[in-house]
Amino acid sequence: MPNCFLINHGKHNRSYVYNKVVSAYYEIIFKLYFSLQSLIFSRLLTYEKAYIFMTQETQKITGFHAHIYFDSASRDVAARVREGLGARFDVRLGRWHDQPIGPHPKSMYQVAFLPNQFEKVVPWLMLNREGLDVLVHPETGDDVKDHTDHALWLGEKLELNIDILRRVRTS
Ligand SMILES: [Zn+2]
Repeated sequence: MPNCFLINHGKHNRSYVYNKVVSAYYEIIFKLYFSLQSLIFSRLLTYEKAYIFMTQETQKITGFHAHIYFDSASRDVAARVREGLGARFDVRLGRWHDQPIGPHPKSMYQVAFLPNQFEKVVPWLMLNREGLDVLVHPETGDDVKDHTDHALWLGEKLELNIDILRRVRTS
């Protein structure tokens, strides 16, 4: 009761000051607590929104391909990379294509994997592709876009034969 302390000035001076200090102290603690809580809460909301946004936007990706390009000189290297991928990850290794096929302008093999493997497979390829050029593309049902706008290249970007894909799309 602050009033009572004010009236009995002399007698309760100490407890009045003490009381004031304590209540100010608690006020600071509460303010800190609530501002920290609202900060954490707003951060969580932001992350949650970003996550929902991301999953909705990428839901149409049913899988990924990594195309590992090589030539006669780098075929052994390509075999090593292939072995590394097969031994470590849940991937489907496609057969060797020693001739250009489809939109792919040079020899390659395909590595197919589900979206949940992306974060494992792609960083590994980034560090272990041994100089080979790699195309990573999603599968959204639009072959042309997946091999152009949606494509991710490690190493050199090769000129793909997109016309072949366009012809397939229009036929
Ligand atoms: Zn592909």
